[in-house]
Amino acid sequence: MSQNGSRTLSFLSLVIPVYNEQATLPFLRQQLESWLPTLGKINYEIVLVDDGSKDNSFAFLAEWAQSSPQIKVLSFSRNFGHQAAVTAGLAYAAGEAVVIMDADLQDPLSAIPEMIRRYEEGYDVVYGQRICRQGETAFKKVTAWAFYRLMQKCVYKDLPKDTGDFRLVARKVVDIVNAMPEAHRFLRGMFAWVGFRHIAVPYVRDERRFGETKYPFSKMLRFAWQAITSFSALPIRLVSFWGALVACLGFLICLYAFYCWCIGDIVQGWTSLMGLIAMLGGSCILAIGIVGEYVGNIFEEVKRRPSYIVERCLNCSTPTSSQNAGKPAVSPPKDEQ
Ligand code: UDP
Ligand code: MG
Repeated sequence: MSQNGSRTLSFLSLVIPVYNEQATLPFLRQQLESWLPTLGKINYEIVLVDDGSKDNSFAFLAEWAQSSPQIKVLSFSRNFGHQAAVTAGLAYAAGEAVVIMDADLQDPLSAIPEMIRRYEEGYDVVYGQRICRQGETAFKKVTAWAFYRLMQKCVYKDLPKDTGDFRLVARKVVDIVNAMPEAHRFLRGMFAWVGFRHIAVPYVRDERRFGETKYPFSKMLRFAWQAITSFSALPIRLVSFWGALVACLGFLICLYAFYCWCIGDIVQGWTSLMGLIAMLGGSCILAIGIVGEYVGNIFEEVKRRPSYIVERCLNCSTPTSSQNAGKPAVSPPKDEQ
């Protein structure tokens, strides 16, 4: 890097998670093959992580890998989830900078040159920020809008708004995130948490052309809850606050009951008593449930299981940077390395 902070990128890795994307992969390959020559002198590799697809995605990727050693393919023993797939890609990527992008090209390749330009200016994390989401349902737009604002206000103030995993990350940041040991990986939060120089590149998110989203509502909800509980103790604090409020209310009700007893009016109030019991019962169960979520997370973390298991590995051998959580429990078979 020169003294004014600028540098020249010489080796770029693209990390692409793939889950049941057979419909979109030919389009991805064709788009990448016509775009990659525009990188000019920059060397590149593409790390495609097959997250336990049940369709023919792996067969397509295996054939693609035969065309060039720059195409690395990892395949998991089962579906471990999007964040695990990106984690694995980051562990195997060797580039001086790494771009994380989806297989469906909703995050356009045309935004990457601007990311590289920002990287060369000295920024270590250049994240894509969606200024518009095309072809997505109003429901998805509203929930995504609310999610980022809620996360920023209540959970982690430095989490950039409207930003997914599409981003360019410098090697030093990749190494640090790879070495972070947590099993519950909310990567966009982890990148924000590590610090360094960040900047946004605004872009228009295209609609998905082939196949379907792999994030139905139930999965989105689970992802949001996982993001909140892996990044903040806010729900538990809210429960404590609610507990304190209910305790104060209970005290006032005791005073009132005592007063009723004093004046001999002790039969009335059955309805309010039932209401209170139901409310308190519900609050207790809710509180236990939220505490249970955290205990469950701790349980998962202390087991120290890997975030994913690599079953097959084409054109690649071992992870390139020190890695804890993502270290494959099972090494890929020798003949496939
Ligand atoms: N994906 C994955 N594992 C999963 C779900 C999704 O690797 O369990 C990949 C998927 O193939 C895609 C990316 O993660 O490359 C984002 O998924 P998708 O495009 O379905 O999400 P959306 O853009 O609808 O939020
Ligand atoms: Mg998508």
